Amino acid sequence: MISVTLSVSGIDPGYAKQEQDPLMNAEIIAIGHELLMGEIVDTNTSFLAQELSKAGIPVRWSGIVGDDITDLNHAMSQAIARSDVIITTGGLGPTSDDVTREAVASALREEMTVDPCLLEWLEGVFVARGIEMPQTNIKQATLIPSAKTIPNPQGTAPGWWAKKNNTHIILLPGPPRELKRMWADTVGPELAHISGVGAVATRTLKTVGFTEGAIDEILSGLFGQENPYLGIYAHQDGIHLRIIAQAPYESEALDLIKPMESEIRHKLGDAIWGVDDETPGSRASELLSSSGVTLGVIEGISGGVLASHLTQPGIGASLFKGSLVANADGIVEVPGGHTYSVIDMTGEAAALAMANNARTLFSSDYGLCVSARGENGYHIAIASEDVQDVTEIKATYARAMTMQRSATTALVRLVSVLS
Ligand code: AMP
Ligand code: MG
Repeated sequence: MISVTLSVSGIDPGYAKQEQDPLMNAEIIAIGHELLMGEIVDTNTSFLAQELSKAGIPVRWSGIVGDDITDLNHAMSQAIARSDVIITTGGLGPTSDDVTREAVASALREEMTVDPCLLEWLEGVFVARGIEMPQTNIKQATLIPSAKTIPNPQGTAPGWWAKKNNTHIILLPGPPRELKRMWADTVGPELAHISGVGAVATRTLKTVGFTEGAIDEILSGLFGQENPYLGIYAHQDGIHLRIIAQAPYESEALDLIKPMESEIRHKLGDAIWGVDDETPGSRASELLSSSGVTLGVIEGISGGVLASHLTQPGIGASLFKGSLVANADGIVEVPGGHTYSVIDMTGEAAALAMANNARTLFSSDYGLCVSARGENGYHIAIASEDVQDVTEIKATYARAMTMQRSATTALVRLVSVLS
């Protein structure tokens, strides 16, 4: 909550923070020339924006600024004038082109000095890595009087949390892995405490088979409520429904979610294939393991993407026995002499035959085939002793997109069959 209006010359007073503003608001500044050049995608802003809203502090402004001290100084002064919580990402590296700290120090008219505790910690990091610390890294051990350190357990750039005249200025490093960990350990919980939101719980239900419009109609009574709030998002693996609830304690927030989740499950039934962080690959892999059945795959249009989903880090040992991928001419050559052409096998019956071939070739309980692309799309076929399942998928989009989508669609289909 802010009670002071900071005056910064050259800033439109219409943007200034209001006295008695009942709600805190946040601003995100993503920093780096590479972001401005479009060389890397700014995923940190999207992460921070979602997390800030969960912490009860809506984002009102966000922007990208290069590693330029003048531009950063300007952006920072503007942000200080209009926002209660300012979060920057990037520009905390050791080299001279990383100038985020310098810009913040100058905007706050404070001096940077080396903090002995931080320096000791930083030297320890280099000792542990068995390399000598370059002199340039010393600036990563600096602080300004109004800032405290935000520990970074995964890198050499600690964050800063400066608080001045009720404005919080939080500096986080660019690498998403480091930023997310620092958010989870320190920044997120502390901001939730400051905003008074208490605990926020979320539940994501992942669906397939319904369009966004159809779900909107089926669940119309549930949208529009504030707590719990229901959001709907279209993803490559279907429509996701996200329930968000706030309460003083986490158990109470979870209790708010439960009745809404039950109602959605009642109305959508089997269309829900997974929850929260589950992916089509992780879910399929789990179901193969829990049912104790093996899977062999032949891939046409998915070009190996399906196999990569089943072999991601974090996915436990599954009963996936392997995948044969057709080459660009649509030919699958099997060691031992068999050659199949998936180009010639684009119809429903052909896809099913390939799923049965996959079963034979891998001696697996289940065979799965993503066919080559035909005139209107492709087929997904699943075969086992009891199942002979074919689905036609209309695909009008580009090949690169079809490669990705066909893999997730096939895995979601497999999840439905195995559930
Ligand atoms: P920096 O902290 O500026 O040295 O950034 C280090 C690395 O983090 C960059 O090279 C990028 O790979 C990554 N990075 C920086 N900013 C972002 C961002 N906004 N979104 C995603 N990745 C980023
Ligand atoms: Mg940078």
